Amino acid sequence: MSKIYACLDKLSTSISNTLLNFKSENRKNTQENKFTKNDIINDLENIGVSKGDHLAVALSFKSIGYLEGGPDAFIDALIETTDPNGTIMVPTFTRHFCIHKNKSINVDFVFDYRSTPTYTGLVPEILRRRKGVVRSRHPINSVTAIGKLADYLTDGHVANAGISPFIPYSKLAEIGGKVLCIGIGERIVAIRHEAQYLAGLLDIIPPRFGVKYIDDRGRIAIHIERATGGCTKRLPELLMVLRKMGVVRSGKIGMANSILLPAKIFLNVTAKLLRKDPTLNLCNSITCLWCRELERRMNLYNSIRNPKFYQKNRLVIEVIAAVNRFRLSNPIFTYTKNRILLNLARRNI
Ligand SMILES: [Zn+2]
Repeated sequence: MSKIYACLDKLSTSISNTLLNFKSENRKNTQENKFTKNDIINDLENIGVSKGDHLAVALSFKSIGYLEGGPDAFIDALIETTDPNGTIMVPTFTRHFCIHKNKSINVDFVFDYRSTPTYTGLVPEILRRRKGVVRSRHPINSVTAIGKLADYLTDGHVANAGISPFIPYSKLAEIGGKVLCIGIGERIVAIRHEAQYLAGLLDIIPPRFGVKYIDDRGRIAIHIERATGGCTKRLPELLMVLRKMGVVRSGKIGMANSILLPAKIFLNVTAKLLRKDPTLNLCNSITCLWCRELERRMNLYNSIRNPKFYQKNRLVIEVIAAVNRFRLSNPIFTYTKNRILLNLARRNI
């Protein structure tokens, strides 16, 4: 098994090198699309960000174009636009492991909220390293915040708390916060899992994930997460409902198509739709472990509109279930992606 992991590490390193080379080449070609911090501040104001806003930000930094000053200038622009009473929050999620076999929890990986890098991108990682930020202690879904309500948003988001593993997003909604997505299409990342949690869809399927972490007393402990992730391929379709309600603002941040919307409305509307019709959460991929297991465990077959052949045929359902049982008991299938992303995060610093 360790040989396989070594190969994966090599593969992810070479992928990240290729991507970095591509990134720098790409930036050389986009000098004419050069932006400054003030350009970003103007763009943020134009899309509707204002002083005192509490923002959950998710982005693809490279989609902005060439920004003078890099990620730090972007973070400064966010802070200056929302100061003095605003807050910026980003996801700083970290690795987790399938727990179906004890040995699959990586003994070398121990989450420490003070030092463990995130795989969620360059800007979250740079923000995490800034002075004055607060990072929540959840060993898998930590968020990092800076600004007036940073303490409030991150407080209580800890291991084994028996509350939503994405609770900072509900807190953000309660204080009238907004969600800003930059250059990631209509994937309202991170907060979408809170909507799934509120709809009761996140704890139906094992695998349950685990990770080692440093607890309050400095000891190594194990956190077991029962509600993690979930397929999100169709959630962007639900954004259409919000667009029709007129609550989604669109604009450009640098070169990136971006959207801004109220967190509370997003959570209320999306969770309500998912609760009413869980099939809205199902993608059409025959190999999607999450969706195929969800429809089987919730026995949704009678409520799926225009079901596919694999949702109608009893024999095929049984075959998929057998394949999924194998996948659920073999962790290599569940965290390969995170290893690659982590390597990317490390290479970017
Ligand atoms: Zn799916």
